Amino acid sequence: MKTLSGLSASPGIVLGPAFVFLDDEERTIPRYSIASHELDGEWERFTVAVGKAKDDVRGLRDRALREMGEQQGAIFEAHLLMLEDPEVHESIEGSLRETLLNIEWVVHQYEQTMIKRLEDLSDPLLQERAVDVHDISRRILNHLMFRERFSLADLDRDVVLVAHNLLPSDMIAMNRYRVKGIVMAAGGKTSHTAILARAFEIPAVLGLGPMVRSIRNDDVIMVDGHTGEVLIDPDEHTKERYHRLLKIKIKRDIDLAMFVSLPARSKDGHTVIVKANIEVPEETESVLRHGAEGIGLFRSEFLFLQPGRAPSEQAQYEAYRTVLEVMGSKPVTIRTLDVGGDKVVPDLALESEKNPLLGWRAIRYCLADKELFQSQLRAILRASVVGDARIMFPMISGADELDAALDALEEAKVSCDKRGQPYRRDMPVGIMIEIPSAAMTADILARKVDFFSIGTNDLIQYTIAVDRGNERVAYLHEPFHPAVLRLIKRVIDDGHAAGIPVSMCGEMASDLHAAVVLLGLGLDEFSMSAVSVPAVKKTIRAVTKAEAVVLAEEAMSLGTHREIDALLHDRLKKVIALGD
Ligand code: PEP
Ligand code: MG
Repeated sequence: MKTLSGLSASPGIVLGPAFVFLDDEERTIPRYSIASHELDGEWERFTVAVGKAKDDVRGLRDRALREMGEQQGAIFEAHLLMLEDPEVHESIEGSLRETLLNIEWVVHQYEQTMIKRLEDLSDPLLQERAVDVHDISRRILNHLMFRERFSLADLDRDVVLVAHNLLPSDMIAMNRYRVKGIVMAAGGKTSHTAILARAFEIPAVLGLGPMVRSIRNDDVIMVDGHTGEVLIDPDEHTKERYHRLLKIKIKRDIDLAMFVSLPARSKDGHTVIVKANIEVPEETESVLRHGAEGIGLFRSEFLFLQPGRAPSEQAQYEAYRTVLEVMGSKPVTIRTLDVGGDKVVPDLALESEKNPLLGWRAIRYCLADKELFQSQLRAILRASVVGDARIMFPMISGADELDAALDALEEAKVSCDKRGQPYRRDMPVGIMIEIPSAAMTADILARKVDFFSIGTNDLIQYTIAVDRGNERVAYLHEPFHPAVLRLIKRVIDDGHAAGIPVSMCGEMASDLHAAVVLLGLGLDEFSMSAVSVPAVKKTIRAVTKAEAVVLAEEAMSLGTHREIDALLHDRLKKVIALGD
């Protein structure tokens, strides 16, 4: 038995066979010299691999045409044309004969040159073709290296998925009903892969680093999403422990079930609202099952991460409407597209920035791609008549950017009016406060909007300068860093001074110790992964607001996150039982 230790990213415990998913970062392209008499054989290997790649693409094209329509089919048609292009073949054959290097390497080099050339062009449409070149080249290389590109959508048995780095788009594409656990080398607790694992209620341990390489396909592994431990080939004693822990979890879930329908009212009668975050419309059922009082954050960008092209205005409208219908009279906050960072949408040409977390993302991207933004705004406006919809802009860095976003919303309203499409004229408009510059100017921003929602995942990232998805610096992504607490307090106070409610939709809202501090700081609404809702309600019901205020004041007076952690663990040990 071998024990690996990582970050507990999604709660739950599971025992099952490992499925090692070979992602791109794990692949190395071989490079070796060949003799001239081997040239013809090498060229023959290439033509056979291209033939197989063409068969794959034809199959994908037919499926896309059947299931998704002309537009998606056309993508694969274009891939076929590239695979058949005589100029490409000539150029690859020329390099093969000139360099006398193996064909895998020659194809790889050709791909890199083409991608660079495309990315250097000024036309964004042509830049986007780099993704297609990468896709085709990967397909040929897979055949050359006898590796099938396995699609996680085709998983047909229960497995624990082991990977170097699953992207949010992999998580969306995979058959999530077969993935019983996730183990990953990369990733932090607030990375989107972790957030999706919690949303799909899949236990996950991330940030294990190169240690994941010691896991082989079909190894039996136990994943403990509470402690962050992964046990390879557990002994009988450990397996017994697994069964005991499962029983404790079932008991805990039964205990928490009684809080599902109760309000989050403190012992001295102060009520806060507890809502849930969703990424895909299917999660709405889980939101209601866990007793959330609304959706505080609908991460609309995940509609764009589904396989295929970006959704049309109509497809978005239908998704928003479905969620609003299922939620009935409960409020639903739809956040406009927050792409970029780790949420790469292949279709949107965002991949090649040097500093994607500081780059052209979220509202910045939307303000530049007017057509895309307008179609999303219209889709949200049109859906707003169905239920209690609210709209929220991500990554606002200051008042100018907010004004531009508000102008865009007005423009979308005018086009709805012109088209005779009804919408709720007084739909509340809010912003995420997740950049320190927004937190520091919250008093100015508060005059322009109806609510704030604090996004601590990014606020912590940008305040402490720590990439939220990088396992090496995960120890620094600390919600109780005094700088973070001060910014949160400021935002709540400035919001209240302007008479608007303040919510939090970052993962900090689901931390039970943090929940008490936030209650004390005066937060009005909490929004989190649906699974966490009952435990947060239970915690808030176990304290008085007056106690929480005192505790928050004490926490604010301390100088390090360790001291604050220690204080909260000590004071709240009776309220927050182990395992909650
Ligand atoms: C946040 O940054 O805290 C947030 C809720 O948004 P996201 O996790 O999608 O970046
Ligand atoms: Mg964010």
